[in-house]
Amino acid sequence: MVNIKQEDIHDVCFNVSKNIILPKYQNLKEDDIRYKNGSDLVTSADIAAEKELKKNLLKIIPSSGFIGEEEYSTNHNILKSYQEDDYCWTVDPIDGTTNFVKGKDKFAIMIALTKKEQILYSWIYKPLSNVMSHAIFNEGSFINNKKIKTNGVNSLSEAIGSISNKYWAEKYWDQIKNLKNEFAEVKSYRCIGYEYVDIGLGQRNFAILSKLSPWDHIPGILFVREAGCSDIDFDRQPYNFTKKNNNLIVGNSKEFNLQILNKLGV
Ligand SMILES: [Mg+2]
Repeated sequence: MVNIKQEDIHDVCFNVSKNIILPKYQNLKEDDIRYKNGSDLVTSADIAAEKELKKNLLKIIPSSGFIGEEEYSTNHNILKSYQEDDYCWTVDPIDGTTNFVKGKDKFAIMIALTKKEQILYSWIYKPLSNVMSHAIFNEGSFINNKKIKTNGVNSLSEAIGSISNKYWAEKYWDQIKNLKNEFAEVKSYRCIGYEYVDIGLGQRNFAILSKLSPWDHIPGILFVREAGCSDIDFDRQPYNFTKKNNNLIVGNSKEFNLQILNKLGV
């Protein structure tokens, strides 16, 4: 497995945050913000940050592919890189753009390095606090280089998490609505990277997800897996970013996730 130095990725994230993202935080002008695909917000900081991340990550592995959320919005063909390139970076330059636009504190840079279907490394970086969460396949999950393990709940009625509120197939509408009553609290951070970190820590317990864009999930999935959590799709398979699948449950344990699947009747 290719050896990536943690400090190299930290430096890239720190500099992109300092020079591109944070100067625009609570300082966006009207022409910095627009909508893409109808309803998703994008800012000049998302686009500039992704370009800089791409330039720096491709220096670390020159022959690698690159899939960025913003580049994808204008060129869907880049997804071929998962099959065609040996190593591939996946980047969400700002996860939680809506929070960023509103001047709220939960937004993150997310990066993953994959080789074909295998997630090798991932990083979730919080610009405001300079906190780096990262995971290495078969080696663990770390926050500021300190190894963490999940310590969550197993009963749904004690659990806190989120349920996507859009993009469900109509056949699931009623089940998803009823499911909300099973948990102690259902509340989204509107920044899935933050949710993945807190699920890994057991401070949150689940996320029930629809519409799976790879940059939203690859980094967090490795983090929660290596922390001891579990993920399962509605076909009862682990998340696979190279396959088209729209529904996923991420939770503190496999048993916990199976309880949810059983409640949903899938
Ligand atoms: Mg984003």
